[in-house]
Amino acid sequence: MSATLAELPSDCHCHNNQEHFLERAFRGLELSDTHRELLLQSFCEITVQIPLRKRDGTLRSYPGYRVQHNHARGPFKGGLRYHPNVDLGEIRALAQLMTWKTALVDIPFGGAKGGIAVDPFTLDNEELETLTKRFTQKLSPLIGEHHDIPAPDMNTGPQVMAWIFEEYSKSHGYTPAVVTGKPLELGGAEGRLEATGYGVAAVTLKAAADISLNPTNAAAVVQGFGNVGSHAALRLAENGVRIIAISDVGGAVFNEKGIDVKAAAAHVAETGSLQDFPDCETLSNEELLTLPCDILVPAALEATINCDNADNIKAALVVEAANMPVTHTADHTLRDRGIVVVPDILANAGGVIGSYFEWAQNIQRFPWEKTLFLSRLEQLLLRCYRQVNDAARDSNVDMRTAAYEIAVARVSRAIELRGF
Ligand code: GLU
Repeated sequence: MSATLAELPSDCHCHNNQEHFLERAFRGLELSDTHRELLLQSFCEITVQIPLRKRDGTLRSYPGYRVQHNHARGPFKGGLRYHPNVDLGEIRALAQLMTWKTALVDIPFGGAKGGIAVDPFTLDNEELETLTKRFTQKLSPLIGEHHDIPAPDMNTGPQVMAWIFEEYSKSHGYTPAVVTGKPLELGGAEGRLEATGYGVAAVTLKAAADISLNPTNAAAVVQGFGNVGSHAALRLAENGVRIIAISDVGGAVFNEKGIDVKAAAAHVAETGSLQDFPDCETLSNEELLTLPCDILVPAALEATINCDNADNIKAALVVEAANMPVTHTADHTLRDRGIVVVPDILANAGGVIGSYFEWAQNIQRFPWEKTLFLSRLEQLLLRCYRQVNDAARDSNVDMRTAAYEIAVARVSRAIELRGF
C-alpha cells in the first residue's frame, strides 16, 4: 500500500512543499532572513530506538521521533503517527504545520509531531502496547500537560493515548491532560473522535456555498475512509451532499447515485475495509481522484495530489482533510485552473480544536456536553474560515497564502513580545 520514495512523483517530498508555501507568506509579510530562520527551525528534535521482542521470538528495533517546533504561543501540541514511511523530515514538516494550524485557529498551543516508523497492522495488541509504553518512557522528559501534549494521528487512536496516559502517570501522578484524544472513560471528551471530520464537513459546506454550490446538488469524492474521512463523509451526507466515491486500504468504490455512507462505515467496522462493499463499482485510487465531481476531499496520505495528476482533477473545490495532501506544484496547477483549495491548516483544524477543548476540560476537571463541544468547535472554525476568506479577498491571494500569513504573523508577534 505505501509507496517507496523512488516510486513517488518528483514533487512528493513533503518538507520541500511546506517551505514553498511558507515562502509565499514570508514574502507577503516582508520578514527578514533571521526572522525566517527563527520561524523555520525546530526547538528540539529527538530520534529514539524502541526495541521490541515479538511474539514469534524475533527482536526488532523501531525508530521513534518527536519534533517540537515552536512554543511561542503555548505548549507544544501535535499527534503521533504509526506508519512505516515515518521519518524525521516528515515529522519535522508536520510539526511546523501544527505551529501554523494552532496559530491560525488562535488556540493557546505551539506545534509538535511525532511517530514511530512501524506498520502497526503487523503487531498484535500486546506488542503495540509494549511499543507505545516504551516510546512513552523515552518521551517522558519532553512531554507534559503544560509542555508538550501528544494526540492521535495516522493509525493511532484512543487506545494508544490511554497507554501513553498510563505510562506517563506512573511517574508523574494522575495526568489526563498529558494527551488528548483519550477514551471517554479516561477523561476523553465527547465529540473529540469525530471532531476533525465534523470540522472538515463544516468548512466544506461553507466553502461550497461561497462558490454557489448547493449541497443537495453537489457530488463529493472522499479519498481515505479512516477516522477523518469517514466522519467527514457521514456529516456531508447528513447535509444532503451525494458522496459518489470513497476509498481505503481495501480499494475505491463508486456509485454515481450516491453511496450509503452509514452502511459503508458499518461494513468497514465489520470486515476491516471497503472491499466487497455491495452496490458499487470498484475503481483504482487514481481513477477516484480524477472522477468528475464538485468536491474532492483528500483525507489520506501526503502528496496524493501531485504533478502527475493535478491536471486531471475535475472538482471545483478541494478540501484538505489530510495534512499536506497537495504538493506545491499541484497547488499551483489547481490555482491556475481556478480550482478552490481549502488548506489543511484550516480544513482539518477541528481535530486540534477538539483537543484544546478536551485539554481544557481535563485541566479544569469539568466535562462539557457533546452539543456544547461541537457547537463551539464549529463556531471557532467558521470564524477562522471567514477571516481567511476575507484576507484572501482583500489581498487578492489564495486561501493557503492568506492562512499562512495570519498564522506566521501571530507566531512572529508572540516571539517578538516574549523576546526569545
Ligand atoms: N493529528 C491531528 C492534526 O494533525 C490532531 C493533533 C492534536 O490534536 O494535537 O491536527
